[in-house]
Amino acid sequence: RCLAMIRKATKEEIVVELTNLYDHFFITTGECKAKVTASRLPYFDGDYWPGVAEDMVNQLHQEEDDQKLQKKGNAKKIIRKRALEAAGHTDLSGNASEDDMLMQKLGETIYPMEEDFIMVHLQYSCSNCRSFMSSGKRWACHQCRSFYICDKCYSAEQELEERERHPSNSRETHELHPVDIVGVPEETKDGDGIIESKFFDTRHAFLSLCQENHYQFDTLRRAKHSSMMVLYRLHNPTVV
Ligand SMILES: [Zn+2]
Ligand SMILES: [Zn+2]
Repeated sequence: RCLAMIRKATKEEIVVELTNLYDHFFITTGECKAKVTASRLPYFDGDYWPGVAEDMVNQLHQEEDDQKLQKKGNAKKIIRKRALEAAGHTDLSGNASEDDMLMQKLGETIYPMEEDFIMVHLQYSCSNCRSFMSSGKRWACHQCRSFYICDKCYSAEQELEERERHPSNSRETHELHPVDIVGVPEETKDGDGIIESKFFDTRHAFLSLCQENHYQFDTLRRAKHSSMMVLYRLHNPTVV
């Protein structure tokens, strides 16, 4: 149902791209020149991955402390270093390597359920630096679908030797053409007023409400009933 909504929004050109967190940030193609650190991953309050990441950081620190205590731990560190080097990470000093390890662990955790980490783009993201393009021009490729880079990366690209330009890993050069960036439509204002309700403040509160009242959404019949009850609660906050 989420995806149906997103498809509709795509048709209305509100959404420009649909990916998932894993594909977008954890798979580095040849064209992506930016280093993606954990601090660049988007999240909402109460999301799954920041909690997991925090646990992992604690775990990494714990492991490090353990290693300092027992010098035997060196062997383990070397193995991890080798694993990172094999994965193409070369900067193994201090925070950089910690971030790499965190990203690697996060990637492994998220990968089996990547489809659930839906990412909806309201702006195109640059294929080189991964930043979102909200103004200026977007440089698209005639041959490659979904390759576009920002003004900044385009200028940098022009400085490069011909063979180093897009597409990477190929001798030929693709021509890039500029497309004006049209911002998000301004008429996305909601005509309805905001209704405050403690049941909908957080995901957890809403989940509790559903659990306590056995609001289920697994069949159409139940989903209809649950939706009506949820709306009733919203509009009649004082009713017990
Ligand atoms: Zn860029
Ligand atoms: Zn191309």
